[in-house]
Amino acid sequence: MAEEQMPSEGGASEGSRQNKKKIIIGVSIVVALIVIFIVILLLLLGSCTHHHTMVYHPAVSPTCESTGSVQYWHCEECGNDYIDEEGSERIEDVTIDMLPHIEVTEAGKAATCTEEGYTERKYCRSCGEEIAAREVIPALGHEIPEGGFSVVKEAGCTEEGLETCVCARCGDTIERTIPAKGHTEEIVPGTPATCTAEGKSDGIRCSVCGEVLKEGETIPKTAHRYGETVVKVSAGCNSTGVGERVCGFCGDVKREMIPALGHDPVSEDVPATCETSGRKGRVVCGRCGEVLEEGEIVPPLGHEIVGNECINCPATASEGLEFKWSNNSEEYYMLAGIGTCTDTHILVPDVYDDGVNGEHPVKSILNSAFEGCTSIITISIPHSINGIGVSAFADCTALVSVTLGENVRTLGALVFENCSSLIGVRFKGSTEYWNVRNDPADSEGIRVTDSLDDPAEAAELFTGKYVTYSWFISGSRRSGYLFLD
Ligand SMILES: [Zn+2]
Ligand SMILES: [Zn+2]
Ligand SMILES: [Zn+2]
Ligand SMILES: [Zn+2]
Ligand SMILES: [Zn+2]
Ligand SMILES: [Zn+2]
Ligand SMILES: [Zn+2]
Repeated sequence: MAEEQMPSEGGASEGSRQNKKKIIIGVSIVVALIVIFIVILLLLLGSCTHHHTMVYHPAVSPTCESTGSVQYWHCEECGNDYIDEEGSERIEDVTIDMLPHIEVTEAGKAATCTEEGYTERKYCRSCGEEIAAREVIPALGHEIPEGGFSVVKEAGCTEEGLETCVCARCGDTIERTIPAKGHTEEIVPGTPATCTAEGKSDGIRCSVCGEVLKEGETIPKTAHRYGETVVKVSAGCNSTGVGERVCGFCGDVKREMIPALGHDPVSEDVPATCETSGRKGRVVCGRCGEVLEEGEIVPPLGHEIVGNECINCPATASEGLEFKWSNNSEEYYMLAGIGTCTDTHILVPDVYDDGVNGEHPVKSILNSAFEGCTSIITISIPHSINGIGVSAFADCTALVSVTLGENVRTLGALVFENCSSLIGVRFKGSTEYWNVRNDPADSEGIRVTDSLDDPAEAAELFTGKYVTYSWFISGSRRSGYLFLD
């Protein structure tokens, strides 16, 4: 332990400072001695407090892949390494550093225009480890010269062209195709179809090489454009006609049949008059006049006599006829013959005046009054007449029609004998209750059952079936009329 000098109070300042210095030096020495003592103590305690348990480790040579080590002994008790079994000296670090690789270089290869190259390769000759891997250097490709390519063959529409140059690097000839240009389309105008020729639609061709790329399609002929029908032969009622139509474009002529027209029926009824026949039901063709239906002849109507005139037409009683006076208490005249009359249409008056007996009715026509008068065509008998004698109109071969007044009640036998032209006997009076007889003694006679309403049928009975018979209306039905046989 060091001595400690206490500071004195109230000492001289120089003396105090000297005392303090001595004290510090003394303390430092003491401290140093204490430290040294402790270190020695520790060393003695460490090395000497146990018996080493040594394990031998032979020397290991280092390589380029692993570290090596020196020869040493290792104590398992204290964990220290020693240079010998006795532990005479400790080894702080047994490691020997790794060896460096032994580099070997394989040469690379330069790339060319067309072939790839590669870089150098480096590896360790000892361990084989690759230090620098080989890398591919891509082919460089040819180097186009400054002038570029020159064309060897021009490209066409469909063929590729060719151009070449010499590589500025390797001197090889470089070939390069020039793509085909493709066609240049151009319309080939078509032609319209007509009635004589087919047409063609627009096509397409190449304006450069002329190749047809699309053919125009055929357009069928058009129909003719025929004009109006021109009649060449007119159609008739029963005959076909011929027409022609001409194509306005090409002049082609098409003949056409014009159908027969058929008849054009026109009714041709002709009314009968007092003196002339008419026609009923007659049909003719209005175009060709052919009679299509004959129809029937309507006998003349006969005059309607009142006061010696016809009330239906301007005719008046025939003049020159021959009359006879009755010469009895009943005063009347009888028509006896044609006399000086030249009429072809006889209009019998209903009253007469012979200038002697005065004006009186004409009541009868005597036997054979007009027999053989071949010029007479019609006879109109007035209502005043009630009897007509035997053969009164026999052999009147031109006589067509007779009209009997409404009061005629008897007609003698053979009254119309041999009247070959007679087509009409017209009753103005009754057509019923007529009888015929062949024997004057036969007062009853035979009832005429045939119809007398139709003048033509009546005429047939008078000139045929009952020509020899006398005709009369049953006397009981009417009275006050003269009967003659
Ligand atoms: Zn030990
Ligand atoms: Zn190596
Ligand atoms: Zn090249
Ligand atoms: Zn082309
Ligand atoms: Zn035509
Ligand atoms: Zn006709
Ligand atoms: Zn008349």
